[in-house]
Amino acid sequence: MIKVAVVGSKGRMGQAAAEAVRQAPDLQLVAAIDLGVPPTAVAEAGAEVIIDFTTPDAVMRTLRSCIGSGIHCVVGTTGFTPERLEQVRGWCAQSPSVGVLIAPNFSIGAVLMMRLAAKAAPYFESVEIVEEHHPAKIDAPSGTATLTAQLIEKARAGMQPMPDATSQEVPGARGVVVHGVHVHSVRARGLVAHQEVILGGPGETLRIRHDSLDRESFMPGVLLGVREVGKHPGLAVGLSTYLDLSGYEDLSGSRGQD
Ligand code: NAP
Repeated sequence: MIKVAVVGSKGRMGQAAAEAVRQAPDLQLVAAIDLGVPPTAVAEAGAEVIIDFTTPDAVMRTLRSCIGSGIHCVVGTTGFTPERLEQVRGWCAQSPSVGVLIAPNFSIGAVLMMRLAAKAAPYFESVEIVEEHHPAKIDAPSGTATLTAQLIEKARAGMQPMPDATSQEVPGARGVVVHGVHVHSVRARGLVAHQEVILGGPGETLRIRHDSLDRESFMPGVLLGVREVGKHPGLAVGLSTYLDLSGYEDLSGSRGQD
């Protein structure tokens, strides 16, 4: 039995993660941590692995405390900047046996959507990303969109700039440019988490779309992370590290990334 604590257990994702842990025969939920409970409560509960679905600031405090206490971390919270990832890498260097997985998207379909988009990107002149989420989402663009853009940028290295004659009289009309790719963020009631990558070439378009219709779509990936994280010391960014996606390049500087 792996002893697991869920941080942010009253949130939308935290509730789903806690339930998934309760249902898993090989996992034991030893703590459900929420605002006002000190991060040290995780160690006191005897947790071996934490799952964190909180906020960009809260997760940094939790990571620092857990990594320092030798507790493996599976993080779904988004909004990590390159500087914050570097900080986590530094903490991991001081606790070399600890595994940390930071995955902006735990849906296996979304991981494949990102990989397929990056694979297709060099064959098209134009690539843009439309991400769509529920209106309670705090960050924009989504972590998934940012990571997809990074993968596409890497895949298109050395190519001509994308054609675009539009003048931006209204700022933001063309979305934001992330890693050289236009990203458009939609926030609307009823949505969960969706993304479409639109690729365009002469006389054709290819649309690669993924829809998370329910938060349970993230749970197989979360549980995979919990079971695997202890076997992968150091920081891994993206779930693909734990999937058999060999043949794809490592972009994270540590291991696989999406
Ligand atoms: P949410 O419903 O707002 O849940 C966040 C929870 O964290 C809330 O219950 C909040 O408590 C709690 N919290 C805040 N600070 C805390 C602290 N210091 N210690 C413990 N708990 C704290 O948000 P959500 O929709 O579940 O999303 C959470 C994160 O997961 C977001 O970053 C989101 O982008 C990300 N996400 C990731 C994936 C993925 O596959 N990786 C999928 C979906 C969402 P209060 O409500 O009391 O403030």
